[in-house]
Amino acid sequence: MEQEFRKIETESRTLVRETSGVKELEELRVKYLGRKGALNLLLKKMGALDPDERPVWGKKINALKRELEDTIRSRREELSGQTEDTGNFDPTLPPELFRHPGRNPVISVLEEVSDIFVSMGFGIAYGPDIETDYYNFTALNFPEGHPARDMHDTFYIKGSDRLLRTHTSPVQVRVMEKQPPPYQFIAPGKCYRRDTIDASHLPSFHQVEGLMVDKDISFAHLKGVLDEFARRFFPGETVTRFRPSFFPFTEPSAEMDIRCTICSGGGCSSCSGKGFIEILGAGMVDPEVFRHCGVDPDKWQGFAFGMGIERMAMLKYGISDLRYFFQNHRSFLEQF
Ligand SMILES: [Zn+2]
Repeated sequence: MEQEFRKIETESRTLVRETSGVKELEELRVKYLGRKGALNLLLKKMGALDPDERPVWGKKINALKRELEDTIRSRREELSGQTEDTGNFDPTLPPELFRHPGRNPVISVLEEVSDIFVSMGFGIAYGPDIETDYYNFTALNFPEGHPARDMHDTFYIKGSDRLLRTHTSPVQVRVMEKQPPPYQFIAPGKCYRRDTIDASHLPSFHQVEGLMVDKDISFAHLKGVLDEFARRFFPGETVTRFRPSFFPFTEPSAEMDIRCTICSGGGCSSCSGKGFIEILGAGMVDPEVFRHCGVDPDKWQGFAFGMGIERMAMLKYGISDLRYFFQNHRSFLEQF
């Protein structure tokens, strides 16, 4: 009895500890604790013992049974990742937060837009987020007190002439001041306006500005470059159209629309029934801007354009609310 008990005791403890599968564990449970298992067989053999030895062995065998039941239960929880109390939860797994949640579509679109222009020969230029009134407005032909300034609700920095740039256009001025023409670059970056947050307004957003200046650049070049961009950025057949518009720093100015990708021009709620959706603003650089930067407008011509990156991402992915981009919800980001 003694020998047999010790053997079962040592063997069962080791095997349960070392088992690596739930199925294997169940086999061990049957082997030791089953109705015809080793411990029940041992209990039956007690009949052959002296009457005063029976309760001693009975206690020992039942204690080992309870011990094995406990260790098998906790081992099963370890192996299957399940506990009786919390259902499908395994506290030994690393937190889900460490899983890669996908890229923010604003960043992906910013890079995609940049890549398309770089492949067409554009360089990339950067400027500061905190600008002076001169670079953000005056040099871009927004004279003091001009009503066009009211179109930009500006964050001013108290006690200085500085402000948070309302567009990436000041980068044009900074580049043109520093080096002589020709120019062909884009300026991606953050912009700021005092807007109340809602589905289509945020106080901070991204723009890509572009400038191409050389001898004999015409509106046809503008159309060619931007048509090519739209064709590459939007999937499928992209139809564009240009409408006259107004910006202080370009003359003539235009807005470019693409045919609504949802209704193919028939009119739907996404395009407010118009069949077309505005994607960017553009125009020929106003001679006044050239003069501010020391570039001779009689020798050099060019065009500028600017687009909102969040808007491009909304159109590309069918996102209806700008706020999704900045809430960083995993369920949103995981789709990109
Ligand atoms: Zn539509």
